[in-house]
Amino acid sequence: MGRDDNTVVNKNKTGVFIDSNFCKGCELCIHFCPENAIKIEENTYNAMGLHPVKWKGECSLCGICFSVCPDNAIEIKNESE
Ligand code: SF4
Ligand code: SF4
Repeated sequence: MGRDDNTVVNKNKTGVFIDSNFCKGCELCIHFCPENAIKIEENTYNAMGLHPVKWKGECSLCGICFSVCPDNAIEIKNESE
């Protein structure tokens, strides 16, 4: 709630939500994602003037990206659980 999501949202509100204004573009989540499901937004700048990352819209919701993000920019929602 209230997060500045730059992600694809499906009807079930299930997915990886990345707050672009918290993201400093360190790419840790990209490197640790086993499914190559996150990409850097090279043409986008956030409030800090940095390139944020974006979820591609589909993955297993394993939660690794959430665990490794040092800036608490990632939220995983899985309403089927
Ligand atoms: S939840 Fe897992 S598979 Fe999905 S983007 Fe994050 S690290 Fe990748
Ligand atoms: S780990 Fe966090 S701060 Fe780093 S690129 Fe991913 S979402 Fe952004």
